[in-house]
Amino acid sequence: MKRITILTTLVGLGLVTSMGRPVAQGNLAEIEHVKDNLYVITGGGGNTAALVTDSGVVVVDTKNPGWGDAILTQIRTVTDKPVQMIINTHTHGDHVGSNIDFPQPVEIVAHTNTKTNMERMEAFQSTSGRQYLPSQTYQERLTLLDGDNQIDLYHFGAGHTSGDSIVVFRALGVAHTGDLFAWKGVPYIDVGNGGSGVSYPKTLLAAADGISGVDTVIPGHSPVMTWADFREFGEFNRDFLTAVERGKAEGKSSAETAASLNLPARYANYVMSRGTLTSAADNAEKIYAELDQ
Ligand SMILES: [Zn+2]
Repeated sequence: MKRITILTTLVGLGLVTSMGRPVAQGNLAEIEHVKDNLYVITGGGGNTAALVTDSGVVVVDTKNPGWGDAILTQIRTVTDKPVQMIINTHTHGDHVGSNIDFPQPVEIVAHTNTKTNMERMEAFQSTSGRQYLPSQTYQERLTLLDGDNQIDLYHFGAGHTSGDSIVVFRALGVAHTGDLFAWKGVPYIDVGNGGSGVSYPKTLLAAADGISGVDTVIPGHSPVMTWADFREFGEFNRDFLTAVERGKAEGKSSAETAASLNLPARYANYVMSRGTLTSAADNAEKIYAELDQ
């Protein structure tokens, strides 16, 4: 499958692209209304959210490199306001790739660990590229804007990377989860950027318990879902970790454990392999290595 080959190359470059959406949508940016003044723009990498306020547009994630014009074109179909702020949910190239396409001045906001991870990326090494690194960071929680436009950023620990943010549009009851929750299936754990298969379920369930007033979720790479789906994904990862720990305690190899997980039937629709990007076997192997540390 050609797409898998391309994906392998991109993963090697640190650009983890979408496998959660049909290919056709990956080649075209499209804007969809979520609620009131909030939109999602699909295609070109991770889902981009756009909140339209009186003073300007807040964008969450900027897709793969070269998609800035496509994002701006879609935003122009709903408002003439400038983009005043970009929030990056995490460091991956399919979520920060087009930061550099947005006209200055634009404020960039991310978790402090994501800033550290982004500083290692080629795109942010040059003088002009460095302007698109986060200028505002936080450790556990940050509130941006106010009133109907209040945005709360939350970080509950390591998961997909070391610097995952959940972006909550407070008045709308909508959360953009980045790739902490990208799809219903085994997640990609980016150990090189501080991701952790052992912490992942704890992080998700702490978020599910700690964030209230959200009913709608924009996942990193899937159509809009519910907060109940987010919690279920946390429970899936908890049950996955428990099964892997059990297999290890029984002396099985990580591959044997991955092949005999016996997860509850309610996860039957979860995708357990995404080609070379990630699989149950990959994650079991990563968890084994982490438990051995
Ligand atoms: Zn990612």
